[in-house]
Amino acid sequence: MLGSSRLVCLLVLLLECCLWVAAKRDFYAVLGVDRSASKKDIKKAYREQSRKYHPDKNPGDKNAEQKFVELAEAYEALSDDEKRRLYDQYGEEGLKGSGKQFHNPFDIFSQFGGFGGGSFGQRAERRGPSIVMPLDITLEELFRGVEIEVEINKQIICPICRGSGAKSHEHVKTCHSCGGHGVKIMRQQLAPGFVQQVQVTCDVCGGRGKIVQSKCAACAGEKVKRGSSQMTVQVERGMGDGQSIVFEGEADQSPDQRAGDVKFTLRQRPHPVFTRKGDNLYMTQAITLKEALLGFEKKVAHLDGKDLPIARKTVTQPGFVQTIKGQGMPKFGFPSERGDLFVEYSVVFPTTLTAEQQKLAAKLFEK
Ligand SMILES: [Zn+2]
Ligand SMILES: [Zn+2]
Repeated sequence: MLGSSRLVCLLVLLLECCLWVAAKRDFYAVLGVDRSASKKDIKKAYREQSRKYHPDKNPGDKNAEQKFVELAEAYEALSDDEKRRLYDQYGEEGLKGSGKQFHNPFDIFSQFGGFGGGSFGQRAERRGPSIVMPLDITLEELFRGVEIEVEINKQIICPICRGSGAKSHEHVKTCHSCGGHGVKIMRQQLAPGFVQQVQVTCDVCGGRGKIVQSKCAACAGEKVKRGSSQMTVQVERGMGDGQSIVFEGEADQSPDQRAGDVKFTLRQRPHPVFTRKGDNLYMTQAITLKEALLGFEKKVAHLDGKDLPIARKTVTQPGFVQTIKGQGMPKFGFPSERGDLFVEYSVVFPTTLTAEQQKLAAKLFEK
């Protein structure tokens, strides 16, 4: 009898112990990364570790299976900006409260491949302002496509406390004054016998429901700091002046809202030779009177740096426009197709003729 009650006691103790361990486990430690680890580092760590503990590699090993599931849970929480923010601020509790549940760890592999993602739950969330930046670009770059590295200075969520402002999430406590609700009910006496209840924002926690006991040293509890981010702007072949390239959620970060977008607007610098209209290119070519009368073969330096041959075999009138098919700009989205090149000719006349030349010209045009 005594034995069995002891056993129950021990079981309860064990269970509590398990719960305690579950609540306190650190996803960063599970993945073996630093609290300031980038998304890339987290992905890399998860890939390496999950490969090691994959059940296919460890058949029948319950510990490996447990570790594998734990890795997936840690990765799921830390790979998503919103979930990571919640985890950093409130620990695993924060993830449960928000109804963001873990998926089957085996599904998580399907998340690799595309980027994007991150669209779950609430639609009408607060978004920060977008940053619009002009990006000067040459016609040559629009012709062949280019990758431009841009560094922007912006407000970032403190990489050490991940926006909680606290030393760690254990230093974030529920506000005792409002019980974590962020609001308090106050009773106001309007007149003798008439009492109205009003809801007011908690003055102790400022409506957050949480109190930071020990501030993060890196941001002095401000949650954000100035930082920069490196972006690779992919200008695709055939893009045009005024076209925008958008980086979603890359503007100033703030712990209370989703970051706005960074929008680069292309601004094409004027080109000394070519003018662009849609997918077509226009240029003017000067030829001599002799070339205008007798024809010519020439080479024009194109935007890809190659020489493009142009030729006429008959008389070319001043202002004549020659169409060269398929030598315009690549079409955006279908760069194998191209617009046309239009060459307008201007004729340069000799300023004087010698007596000899006059005689010959007179003879030439006699009939
Ligand atoms: Zn901080
Ligand atoms: Zn409060």
